[in-house]
Amino acid sequence: MRKGKLIVISGASGVGKGTVLGIMMQKRHDLSFSVSATTRPPRPGEKEGVHYYFVTKERFEDMIARGEFLEYDAHAANYYGTPRAQAEEKMSRGPVLLDIEPNGARQVREAAPDAMLVFIMPPSMEELEKRLRSRGDTPEEQIQLRMTRAVWEMEQRHWYDHVVVNDIPERCADEILKLIADEADK
Ligand code: 5GP
Repeated sequence: MRKGKLIVISGASGVGKGTVLGIMMQKRHDLSFSVSATTRPPRPGEKEGVHYYFVTKERFEDMIARGEFLEYDAHAANYYGTPRAQAEEKMSRGPVLLDIEPNGARQVREAAPDAMLVFIMPPSMEELEKRLRSRGDTPEEQIQLRMTRAVWEMEQRHWYDHVVVNDIPERCADEILKLIADEADK
């Protein structure tokens, strides 16, 4: 059977990755989402097994020791990782979307050289800060930390395969879908 490829989507917190990924999956039903494991607590509305698998630090470290992650990283005082078995199982049905940050993206590129890496940029830094604030649930010091991290993440975009701007989510989703059709489906 032909296997789907891994499609890595990175971009700063607040850039709208979740919305763009949601539109892509509505438009193309053979796409699936790789659900990460994390040690961070769930936010309101987040569901176990849908947004993340919420695990303890001990469980996460046990999974690392067993080699169960395709990639993982520690940032913002928490672990985040892609369970390898789940990603491989989903790849048998089509392309698999990974919402992960640049340290993880680099590990995926090494583990799966045919993965496609896409970086989503905000229209401007002012717009990114506005979007972070408009969530209304993030304390000021968190906003500053995320903006600092955003600058570092954006510097990494140069080694991604593609950089797209999320000016309008539907347009951005269509652009990534076209990239997948032109390259990853081949
Ligand atoms: P959040 O805590 O806001 O859900 O995610 C914070 C960051 O962690 C985002 O940039 C997201 O892309 C990244 N992330 C989520 N899951 C994973 C993962 O499995 N591996 C890595 N390396 N990063 C992840």
